Amino acid sequence: MINPIEIESFSQKISVQRVLGKVVGSKQFPTVIALGGIHGNERAGVNALLKVFETIRSEKISLKGNFYGISGNINAISQNIRFQNVDLNRIWTKEQLLKLYLEEDDLDEESKEQKEIYHIIKNILETEKGPFYFLDLHTTSADTQPFITISDSLNNRKYSANFSIPTILGIEEYLDGPLLTYINEFGHIALGFEAGQHDKEVSVDNCVAFLWLALVAAKCVRKKDVVKYRFYKHSLSMFNETQDFYKIDFKYTIKPFEEFKMIEGYKNFQEIQKNELLAYSNNQELLAKFDGKIFMPLYQKKGDDGYFIISRLSRFWLTISRFLRKLHMHNILKLLPGVTSQKKKPHTLIVNPKTAKFLATEIFHLFGYRKKVLKKGKLYFIKRDRKVSEFI
Ligand SMILES: [Zn+2]
Repeated sequence: MINPIEIESFSQKISVQRVLGKVVGSKQFPTVIALGGIHGNERAGVNALLKVFETIRSEKISLKGNFYGISGNINAISQNIRFQNVDLNRIWTKEQLLKLYLEEDDLDEESKEQKEIYHIIKNILETEKGPFYFLDLHTTSADTQPFITISDSLNNRKYSANFSIPTILGIEEYLDGPLLTYINEFGHIALGFEAGQHDKEVSVDNCVAFLWLALVAAKCVRKKDVVKYRFYKHSLSMFNETQDFYKIDFKYTIKPFEEFKMIEGYKNFQEIQKNELLAYSNNQELLAKFDGKIFMPLYQKKGDDGYFIISRLSRFWLTISRFLRKLHMHNILKLLPGVTSQKKKPHTLIVNPKTAKFLATEIFHLFGYRKKVLKKGKLYFIKRDRKVSEFI
């Protein structure tokens, strides 16, 4: 086990260990598992989790379900850095997890952290009762109002609709190996919560508010037992952006050795126009490819997602896609020329790039498929909606 650490975070001395808290509820279901600090410089989630467990204890709040708090990259948290060798939130793939077994003695810092987190999650999934709700608490380098990120499955969407804040769909299509995408593959509900800027105290308050609302929405705690419920609800919904769903239209990826500099002062969700100067890459201007809203502009050294451009999804699209998926209409896609599926991988469609060009990625999104991977000249689309299966 990685040793617990003592740090000063948001003017508080806190002790960070792998399991930050655990409460067994009277009914023992559902089970809510919240993570803080998977990025070590994002400490607000850790502070918030400790606060919530302290409130449960001091106010003797009785829970219906179980509630776990887990800390992320303890070594990076102790140094207040995003990660040491590799981003702990970009290595959740089957290949990497296999490596943890094969190279047991020679693991780098993040693999050691990953191994502990993996076993704790697996143990919870095997011993506790579902449904399981995973919450991953983050903060951002740019100033932002709180928002949620999810893989586009209907159960995630339904849970996310409980919070009066914007939700970004399908971010996993642009990121490799985030923890929540891995969790989603086994059919569990998983929400990423971005609370605000890394060093602002309000980010801790936002995480606390979100955790309580999330526990109530999951029916892990009764609303009447959360005295400040209305205050929490209000404090998260007083921002400009209302509870809309957004799609990602573009991501700027920073290449190795590239010198990237975002233009100062962009706030998350700020409107931008086509051809607006957004950043410099090796002293060359980077202009917006189209109108939209800027999302997650990068104002720190570590990380290779420069910025995203997002746009609002219409109610019409959300309703249609929900109906199509509920009626299992996605099977129609399999009948199209150039689209095949494998018995072994029922959630994957293998698509001839020519067909994909004709059909447009949007169609696959509508039916609940995400993440194109080009392998041996074929595109792979993976369905996000799925039944709960054994965690491996
Ligand atoms: Zn983060």
